[in-house]
Amino acid sequence: MEHNTRKIGIMGGTFDPIHYGHLVTAEAARDKFGLETVVFVPSGNPPHKRHKKVSAGEDRFLMSVLATASNCYFEVSDIELIREGLTYTVDTLRVFRDIYGEDADFYFITGADAVMEILTWKNVEMILKMCKIVSAHRPGLDMATFRKRVKEIEKLYRNKIYLIEIPALAISSTDIRERVKNGITIKYLLPEAVENYILKKKLYRY
Ligand code: NAP
Repeated sequence: MEHNTRKIGIMGGTFDPIHYGHLVTAEAARDKFGLETVVFVPSGNPPHKRHKKVSAGEDRFLMSVLATASNCYFEVSDIELIREGLTYTVDTLRVFRDIYGEDADFYFITGADAVMEILTWKNVEMILKMCKIVSAHRPGLDMATFRKRVKEIEKLYRNKIYLIEIPALAISSTDIRERVKNGITIKYLLPEAVENYILKKKLYRY
């Protein structure tokens, strides 16, 4: 009898703010891997951002909801935002396993720079057993170093890492924040509703 495994995308990122590069990445992964849904999970309080200024979780969550509202395959989850203390991807995957059950296949989608650091993440071995990693790279990434790191991870943990090239990732959250601070337009880099939210809440001005 045919057994259909559920394929669920988990889009992990800070999303400060969410932009078209993220949306194109999620849609490309959904299409390539035949994902039933892609759940955007704005990061809570990850260990590597402890000393960095990040916008309030509520703002990042609401901007993600506004940005994804028109795509019926996209959802946004606040599971990392409501968790106390530091947030780790392994705990997020455990919650997803509880929700979707043993049969689901998870595709954790994130940026190549984050994937490069995955060996430093808590319980990396468990993470790589619990999901497939989809790494989105932007133009200009040092591919030689990246491929070397990916091979290292694949050899250590016998898990394939999928790479998808996303030209739209030339857009970056850092650049958008800098533009707002310097009074430069951000139009067409992100959905209009997110642009309006940034203006209304006076985000990234200082
Ligand atoms: P980051 O260091 O802020 O971002 C790294 C790079 O990847 C940036 O260039 C970023 O571009 C891009 N990026 C981030 N998320 C992306 C996505 N979903 N799709 C495409 N590009 C993306 O990384 P981060 O956002 O904090 O972390 C990424 C994910 O890894 C989060 O889910 C985080 O919780 C997880 N993580 C877990 C651990 C752990 O468990 N110990 C440690 C580190 C990270 P933009 O700035 O334009 O987004």
